[in-house]
Amino acid sequence: MPSSKKIIISGTVQGVGFRPFVWRTAVKNNIKGFVSNTSAGVFIKAEGENKDLKSFVEDLRKQAPPASKISSFEISDLKYEGLKNFYIKKSKESKTISASVPADLAICKACAEDIKDSKNRRYEYPFTNCTDCGPRFTIVEKLPYDRPFTSMKKFKMCPSCFKEYKDPSNRRFHAQPNACPVCGPKVFLWEEGNITCENKEAIEKAADNIISGNILAIKGLGGFHLACDPFNFKAVKRLRDFKDRPFKPFALMTDDLNTVNKYLHISKKEEEIVFSSKAPIVTLKKKKNNYFNYVSPNLDSVGVMSAYTPLHLVLFKILREKKFLSPLIMTSGNHRDEPITKDNEEAVKLFSSLGPILLHNRPIHNRIDDSLVYVDEFSQERIIRRARGYVPDFISLPFSAKKDIFASGADIKNSFAFTRKKELFVSQYIGDLDDRNNSNFFCETYKKTKKLLKANPASAVSDSHPGYRSSSLASSLGFKPQFVQHHIAHFFSVMAEHSILNDCIGVSIDGTGYGTDGKIWGCEFFVYRNNKVYRKASLEEFCLPGGEICLWEPYRILVSLAYKFGLGENLNKIFKLKEKEVMEKMIENKINSPLTTSAGRLFDAFSCLILDKKYSTYEAQLPMEAESICPKISSAEPYNFEIVKDKNILRICPKEALAKAFKDKKNNTSQDIMSYKFHFGFASAVSEICLLLAKENKIENICFSGGCFQNRKFSYFLTNILKNKKLNLYFNSKLPSNDGCISAGQIYFKLLKATIA
Ligand SMILES: [Zn+2]
Ligand SMILES: [Zn+2]
Repeated sequence: MPSSKKIIISGTVQGVGFRPFVWRTAVKNNIKGFVSNTSAGVFIKAEGENKDLKSFVEDLRKQAPPASKISSFEISDLKYEGLKNFYIKKSKESKTISASVPADLAICKACAEDIKDSKNRRYEYPFTNCTDCGPRFTIVEKLPYDRPFTSMKKFKMCPSCFKEYKDPSNRRFHAQPNACPVCGPKVFLWEEGNITCENKEAIEKAADNIISGNILAIKGLGGFHLACDPFNFKAVKRLRDFKDRPFKPFALMTDDLNTVNKYLHISKKEEEIVFSSKAPIVTLKKKKNNYFNYVSPNLDSVGVMSAYTPLHLVLFKILREKKFLSPLIMTSGNHRDEPITKDNEEAVKLFSSLGPILLHNRPIHNRIDDSLVYVDEFSQERIIRRARGYVPDFISLPFSAKKDIFASGADIKNSFAFTRKKELFVSQYIGDLDDRNNSNFFCETYKKTKKLLKANPASAVSDSHPGYRSSSLASSLGFKPQFVQHHIAHFFSVMAEHSILNDCIGVSIDGTGYGTDGKIWGCEFFVYRNNKVYRKASLEEFCLPGGEICLWEPYRILVSLAYKFGLGENLNKIFKLKEKEVMEKMIENKINSPLTTSAGRLFDAFSCLILDKKYSTYEAQLPMEAESICPKISSAEPYNFEIVKDKNILRICPKEALAKAFKDKKNNTSQDIMSYKFHFGFASAVSEICLLLAKENKIENICFSGGCFQNRKFSYFLTNILKNKKLNLYFNSKLPSNDGCISAGQIYFKLLKATIA
């Protein structure tokens, strides 16, 4: 007996080749009916024999396209009509929305072959794509994901492209951005106020520009890049001057694994990620520490991404033909810490002084940076900057909120978040909100994302810092936000990622955040029990003489710690510090010297001492350099960070560790050994508190978050110490452990209706 079924599949099912996949699967299983995209997801009417329907549904579940992500799969009965064939129906909009926008996909192998093949009509065509690859999130204005709602709407498909688009057996069937040299977008070169050439000639000239040691601004998928030769000192120096980034590492782009292999270690897992459809920047360990020293000075690793768009591939092809064989520096096109530039006019204004600009006429609707990840010592992918390729994928929540919630995140490395039923959307990396342009980017993205997801938040959550711009932005959007403490939000972001509902321990080892006592927190241990959060342990408090400026002048923190523990005279021998006495007076008289328990600042101070460096030009520069030289194994005795009881909480006291470090300095102990002693010693202290709290509270689940977990050596030592102790250790994995996870944690705190004890 034949019957009829209605199937609604929601999740990331649009723009990932899902409808052609349904069509092929239907034909294979002898199913009649139709499939269509609605804003509620993919809608299928399927008629056939019961056994065929059964295997059809099974194939749909098991063989879904790799870039799709199914969040729900509903089947119900329909009236049997005896349909004669299976077809793809035109999209319709519906009121409830649960389909998601797919993330952008790196060029697939088949399309890469097309542009290499001189007989193919897309030979060297920089906008080649298909249902398996190409722009998605960056071009979509609203759902359903169909060409008229994308920035491809202004390009009318030529008959050849349209034929592919209509043919269910073709790889480009319903590929919304489908295009070719006849009908699609074009590249052109902007030089000294004019467009001087287009197409291949433009890319040729752009390539010559790079080879001759200049900087090229090039429009990509989510914004502009600035590109140059990583081995040309003058070019890199000019780029650093332009971006006002004297030391901060740049990323490299390559089309070829062999170039990578020559200089860098790359594991199977790292290789998979570099060449995945997400194509993030992956930090890879250098074979020698002085490799790419212009690109990532004083660090043991450098970030590498693949040439992920056809335009980049064609550029590399032409460079290779001109015997230029190295990778390229490919860094976000912006001034220091500003949002990535996305529009042609914007780019012309900003980059004209640098030289020619390679533009194209496919508008970028959603601005988005490259993502940055690494593979940790346990082969887990960890994310540092979550953006292109990862956004707008959602996190599945264990239950849904009655009404949508909005969270405005933190001020540094901001991301914001929305809920939509059981889905939690975290925005792309927005950046540091004290820059006005980033605040604008926040508002621009809020409006676009809200429209795109048809989210309708009824309430909001923000950070409890009274001066945070993210909170005032939430107010300016009409919300009266509930406030969540920064490190509790860190903790809850891990619970959200792992759908944890039970009692657990939370450990936030972080830079800085506003504490419930008005002090600056940053090394916090919590117990979550019966919906209440208790602060159980922290770092010993110390002063930050000068406040914020300590970030850039970390020696101030060292002075402060030394003073606190009566070790000040040791400093005289190391640094000739004229300012030392002034600072000590500031601390003594409590002048602009806020109290903190920040682990990040402790890392700063120790790194300063280990490396004999006083200043930092980018966030965590000295800790990153100290981590780079830290060996994984050593027989040296780690510094002892004592655990002391202070009223109701435990404190990690750095006194003895600091005294030993000063002694090591005096004895000319090598920097790498000192680095090991510090990292292992601090990890031991954190582990010890975890074990104490786990035992005392009979809790096995521990959630770790905070920027310090990006320190690979610290994370490695900590995990190794705790791994066989019958505990369940949870870390951020889909979200960064830095402040990029705060918005998700804020939402989860509100969802669980948690309170602070
Ligand atoms: Zn493709
Ligand atoms: Zn065409």
